[in-house]
Amino acid sequence: MSKYLIALDDGHGMQTAGKRTPPIQELNNRIIHENEFNRAVVNYLSSELKRCGVDTLLVAPTDVDTSLSARTNLANSKKVDLYISIHYNAFDGSFGGKNPSGLSVHCYPGSSKSRKLAECVHKYLKQGTKQIDRGIVESNFHVLRETKMPAILSENGFMDNKSEAMLMIDEEFRKEVAREHAKGICDYLGVEYTEEEKEETIYRVQVGAYSNQNNANKVRERLKLLGYNAIVVASKQ
Ligand SMILES: [Zn+2]
Repeated sequence: MSKYLIALDDGHGMQTAGKRTPPIQELNNRIIHENEFNRAVVNYLSSELKRCGVDTLLVAPTDVDTSLSARTNLANSKKVDLYISIHYNAFDGSFGGKNPSGLSVHCYPGSSKSRKLAECVHKYLKQGTKQIDRGIVESNFHVLRETKMPAILSENGFMDNKSEAMLMIDEEFRKEVAREHAKGICDYLGVEYTEEEKEETIYRVQVGAYSNQNNANKVRERLKLLGYNAIVVASKQ
């Protein structure tokens, strides 16, 4: 069992009123629900943390609209070490008008541990995809106020800014946001962040095929004399 248990909160239910983009013309008037992004990031973040040896608790793993108090009560009862809430911001629900953009990390006013956690995550979050940095903001949000452990809430873009709305369904962006949160959380906990192992594909070039091994070995020696790193591989056909 891991030393640490981190609560991950995906913000809202899939059908929570209002929490969605305006229709996106370029996507056949598709509407993106905030929860589509939040949940994807929470799932990526959970596997990032598990890879680093940190356990996670999803406080609202279903499609049901789980209340904020149910989320924080569960985290408090399980005595988790940190509470991380993933969100996407909104301004006026339209792609027109003032159209703000950018990311922010929120912590409860006066909580020094939560601020430190916010600083750790914000440090990585402002790297990567170029977005306006709206900084660390002290906010009196339920999930920050009613949690007994250090807690942060990140707003990773604006749903009613079209270019940031498009990022919500960008798998690379989702992964990047999760990775940046994981790195910050690891820093805060003093746990080493383990990079994901990339499976590399190797393309080999074959220069001959022989039924007699001696012939294969002769070609290998000639290639070596020419400076190539040649090998003989035995295979059935
Ligand atoms: Zn939200």
